[in-house]
Amino acid sequence: MNDVSKKQSAELVTERTFDYATAPESRDIVQLQDRYGLFIGGEMTDARSGELHPSLNPATEEELAVVSYADAEDVDRAVGAARDAFESVWSKRSPSERAKTLFRIARILQERAREFAVLESLDGGKPIKESRDVDIPLAAAHFFYYAGWADKLEYAFPNARPKPVGVAAQIIPWNFPMLMLAWKIAPALATGNTVVLKPAETTPLSALLFADVLRQAEVPPGVVNIVTGDGRAGAELVKHPGIDKVAFTGSTQVGKEIQRTLAGTNKRLTLELGGKAANIVFDDAPLDQAIEGIVNGIYFNQGHVCCAGSRLLVQESIQEPVIAKLKQRLGRIRVGDPLDKNTDLGAINSREQLDRVRELVAAGVEEGAELYQPPCELPERGYWFAPTVFTGVAQSHRIAREEIFGPVLSVLTFRTPEEAVEKANNTPYGLSAGIWTDKGSRILWMAKRMRAGVVWANTFNRFDPASPFGGYKESGFGREGGRHGLAPYVDISS
Ligand code: NAP
Ligand code: MG
Repeated sequence: MNDVSKKQSAELVTERTFDYATAPESRDIVQLQDRYGLFIGGEMTDARSGELHPSLNPATEEELAVVSYADAEDVDRAVGAARDAFESVWSKRSPSERAKTLFRIARILQERAREFAVLESLDGGKPIKESRDVDIPLAAAHFFYYAGWADKLEYAFPNARPKPVGVAAQIIPWNFPMLMLAWKIAPALATGNTVVLKPAETTPLSALLFADVLRQAEVPPGVVNIVTGDGRAGAELVKHPGIDKVAFTGSTQVGKEIQRTLAGTNKRLTLELGGKAANIVFDDAPLDQAIEGIVNGIYFNQGHVCCAGSRLLVQESIQEPVIAKLKQRLGRIRVGDPLDKNTDLGAINSREQLDRVRELVAAGVEEGAELYQPPCELPERGYWFAPTVFTGVAQSHRIAREEIFGPVLSVLTFRTPEEAVEKANNTPYGLSAGIWTDKGSRILWMAKRMRAGVVWANTFNRFDPASPFGGYKESGFGREGGRHGLAPYVDISS
């Protein structure tokens, strides 16, 4: 921290008016097994690979449970189970019966919401306030939403006879484990497909608990199979000849690899990859509201969000008040125990991700941007990173171009709307964007020119199952959510 930042930090400390007492959520509601197998054909089975690894709590580095790593043979068993279930049961089940099953899953998720929220925070490091109020309710909402479509597919695809595609391989990341599971499984099941899901290596536990929900909801064995493991299991799944469709959310690099593997096959593919979204604040924006939107845009879920507003574009005339207010607001972000109901910023998901955030932040300093972090005490154990803002960022800096996927904001400026558009679109990504202005006409003018799948106006990071989500350019292709989210899972060719 340089001298100016230190002085500002000291001033900010004295501005704090009160502290919060701790309010920890009890973890007793979660009953973890010591060891988990793979969920194949409706049963928890030992991995033939015999390979086991622990899943850690990133806030404490405590081992939560030991999880099986699937190999090629395990993946083959899972695909076989999904194929059998597709042919013998699920594709034959009437749409209204499929809807009932999905409704049951949604209701059970609601009933067990606290258990899932606590587990999600334990295994992934996200604040309980977010897993409780966002991840789990939205996951349930996705199942409710797609349950509603299951018996109305002819209305979604008029003049066609939508048929299921078959067996879907679904690979998800660690930033929103349950929500990504719901985004993938709900539309696949609603349209009559069966699934093999591979959760991320660092956050497999909520998907394994979901196996219990599937049994409770009487989902027939083999309709959903869960194979835990690392990238090797994902790669085996992608190249397995028995799958008909791949749905992937994760890094652009792995997305490209998957595309190469699938080239020349007739397997379908949707990719939801990284982002480097611009959050654009004009001089007529309601500033206090915009500050909350900026904070929510980049510090929500430790910035582990593909659509995070990681590049703040602020109109030059209001740069000073925006940065002053932002720094002040940063001082009020509570960093610490994810299970504390007051916590705003939890733990970084893994040692690997922490190293990546550190590397990019060091590059930002090296390249000449000015770093600011509010004074905050980070716990000694676990993976932590203070909320960070960089000012004086140039378009060419790595922190303006690369996805950091951490609580780090890069601030750039612009003078005219045309310049804002140009800078916002100057990225290989195109997942989302935010616009803050008082003028409706300017919102529409800007939104039309943004090369981004989602454009939020005077808000950020809003999600609804009825609204499609997806990218342009290197952020991927295909849409999840809404009526559009059904299309990748149906065949309307005959
Ligand atoms: P990743 O490697 O792309 O992981 C995503 C999923 O793919 C995980 O389940 C992963 O397994 C699996 N995977 C890894 N290699 C694979 C392969 N060759 N074939 C098939 N599946 C494979 O992403 P990450 O390493 O977790 O994160 C790296 C960067 O990706 C982040 O810094 C961020 O920029 C971006 N990211 C984006 C999103 C998003 O929502 N768009 C989410 C997460 C990360 P393992 O868990 O074992 O690696
Ligand atoms: Mg973990």
